Amino acid sequence: MPKHIAEMLVETATMELPDTKTLRLQWPEGYDIEFKTGQFITVYFPDAPEYKRAYSLSSSALDRGCFEITIKRDGKMGTRLVDWVKAGQKLWVIPPTGRFLPVLEPNKHLICIAGGSGVTPFRGFVREATRRKLETKISVLYSVRTTTDIIFNDEFRKLEQDNPNFKFHVTCTRLDATHPWDGRRGRIDADWVRSHITDLPNTVFYACGPNALVEATENLVLKELKVPKEQMKTEKWG
Ligand SMILES: Cc1cc2nc3c(=O)[nH]c(=O)nc-3n(C[C@H](O)[C@H](O)[C@H](O)COP(=O)(O)OP(=O)(O)OC[C@H]3O[C@@H](n4cnc5c(N)ncnc54)[C@H](O)[C@@H]3O)c2cc1C
Repeated sequence: MPKHIAEMLVETATMELPDTKTLRLQWPEGYDIEFKTGQFITVYFPDAPEYKRAYSLSSSALDRGCFEITIKRDGKMGTRLVDWVKAGQKLWVIPPTGRFLPVLEPNKHLICIAGGSGVTPFRGFVREATRRKLETKISVLYSVRTTTDIIFNDEFRKLEQDNPNFKFHVTCTRLDATHPWDGRRGRIDADWVRSHITDLPNTVFYACGPNALVEATENLVLKELKVPKEQMKTEKWG
């Protein structure tokens, strides 16, 4: 696909958490491209075209007319986007690319493992599977520090109700012992991941986010659970 770089209006800027913001970028007139759920776009500010950064789409390929990205306040670009970008401003966008794609086949089970902001592309995966009423099973295993750090909690809970093949599992790593949370506590470990596997040959594992987190997950899945490399897809943020 030729590079169709476009200037896009920030239609909405929504704080998901105190340090995490979703931007909805409106396609300009005549912009009508093919892309896939799970891909990322590259954005830059009109006043700093040399500083470009990639963001996974948190929307799906069925969401036409806009791209959504969800950014954590981190580093130069992450801070500028979260703290300073408002609806009505414009950003330049390089079209979606990437191979972190959900295998949305009927007999497959996608186990999507994330910590913190690494959950962003999985919202797109689940949105697409739910809207298309697919039989593909999707389990998101999500690690956060406390219950107030869960990105997209409401939407994932709603998608769970709408899609019997989707489950959203959260584990909290730093909750006070007196907190009423009755879900899982502690880090993601091999036993927890193993407990979600029902048909290993048809399971595809996904991990996305900052390098160290993804590498730890790769280690867990490939080395501890001895899953063949071809059954794991990763997206490392560098
Ligand atoms: C394919 C892809 C998809 C991505 N998707 C997302 C996404 O969905 N959401 C998201 O939030 N990000 C995503 N990222 C990361 C994003 O592209 C940026 O890298 C991120 O927002 C940080 O901005 P920056 O690169 O300008 O940070 P930089 O300023 O270059 O900093 C990079 C890192 O170094 C740290 N750092 C900087 N200065 C110091 C210092 N003095 N001391 C110690 N540490 C320091 C920062 O905290 C940061 O972690 C993705 C990256 C890739 C490659």
